Amino acid sequence: MAEKTIAAVASPIGEASIGVIRISGEKAIEIADKVFFAFSGERLADLEGYKAAYGEIKDGETTLDDAVALVFKAPKSYTGEDVVEISVHGGRLMVRNVLRLILANGAENAAPGEFTKRAFLNGKTDLTKAESIMGLISAENDAQLRLSRAAHNGVLSEKIAKIEQSLIAAAASISAYSDYPDEDIEGLDNESFTAMLCEAETALKQMLASYDAGRIIREGIDTAIVGKPNVGKSTVMNMLSGWERSIVTDIAGTTRDVVEDTVTVGDIVLRLADTAGIHETADTVEQLGVQRANSRIDTAGLILAVFDGSSPLDSDDYALLEKIKELNTIIIINKSDLSIKADLSAFKDFITVETSAKLGDGYDRLAAAIAEICGTGNLDPDSAVLLSERQRVCAAKALSGVTAAKDALISGCTIDAVGVCVDDAVAALLELTGKRVTNEVTDEIFRRFCVGK
Ligand code: GDP
Repeated sequence: MAEKTIAAVASPIGEASIGVIRISGEKAIEIADKVFFAFSGERLADLEGYKAAYGEIKDGETTLDDAVALVFKAPKSYTGEDVVEISVHGGRLMVRNVLRLILANGAENAAPGEFTKRAFLNGKTDLTKAESIMGLISAENDAQLRLSRAAHNGVLSEKIAKIEQSLIAAAASISAYSDYPDEDIEGLDNESFTAMLCEAETALKQMLASYDAGRIIREGIDTAIVGKPNVGKSTVMNMLSGWERSIVTDIAGTTRDVVEDTVTVGDIVLRLADTAGIHETADTVEQLGVQRANSRIDTAGLILAVFDGSSPLDSDDYALLEKIKELNTIIIINKSDLSIKADLSAFKDFITVETSAKLGDGYDRLAAAIAEICGTGNLDPDSAVLLSERQRVCAAKALSGVTAAKDALISGCTIDAVGVCVDDAVAALLELTGKRVTNEVTDEIFRRFCVGK
């Protein structure tokens, strides 16, 4: 058990019907008993775990508030330590004063993520589950929530554990073989060993392949809406956001700068920038806008390039196509309510969607194209999806270990050489789930949590 008893506000700071202050550590119940007095006269120390008492918070003779104290006894608590959660009225001052009183009675301020870090150190959770908690709290759409729920429910840990177990068994057979080279060792015949490595390789590859799509669902994607003036960029943006964010006029060049907005299209949050129309201009203010639009193209993860389907394409359109042809681009052929005059063969190498943004037509087709290009269409948010760059790096290391082991085996290297590669893969997986991880990595992970988690 950690020596310090820590306390923090576990609910959002602001006006709310209740606010929760959480205390965890060896002295949690003793400290709570100094400030909380049950109307029944019972001491919290005498309560069983998972039992609550109703009473009041008192600073000497002064009553601060009515409160409910909920007691958890180690190891059956979130952190694995003794925990008391005190609920009071959720005002900013009220919660602050109660926390101060608890600190004055012997608790110390919890560091960011310290409750969850203690849960990890006390074996209540592995790292993939702990990392999913941030996602559970910050989810802004259903897909984000499902991704984090799946990891929190252990889907990712279980898949990794399966790979890990077969590799550990292989490593054990290899060391048995090194000790007794003349004996037949179960599982160490070339065929079953290669099959096991191939299976592990496939599972890791699948996991890594879904990482980018999962990341786009979790974090959204920087999206630039580009195109000449007057092709309908602002109207497309309004169609996506569902409200009049950009200024739409008939005068070409009205969007002079980059307008930022965030919209959710299907499962994906697009961080949109409706850029100034990209075209040749002598107007210096417009030139600045065009420059920013160009740099936005360079940094965006997704380009929605809008063309006016009702006009023949001109040199500005062809210049834009040239600029975006290597990028993650969807071509929007807008104004489909008018007769098509653009030469559509210019778009043959791109994913295209026809829209009439003015009439709101084409939204579903555009949403499907965005899901397709981002790879999220085929992602099952309830499956084992890696949730952080740290996890991706560990999985990639494990994969290169497994592949190297397989190649070494096939090319007839010594079994010891194969064993070294298997050991590398196992070490990477143990780091992924946190079974073998340095303090620095743990500190880094939990530092990103906020106080109270
Ligand atoms: P931007 O300069 O590219 O941002 O273009 P706007 O969104 O400001 O639109 C320019 C003009 O085209 C406005 O008069 C819009 O009403 C019109 N417009 C936009 N989308 C469509 C469309 O799908 N069909 C038709 N007929 N007009 C459109």
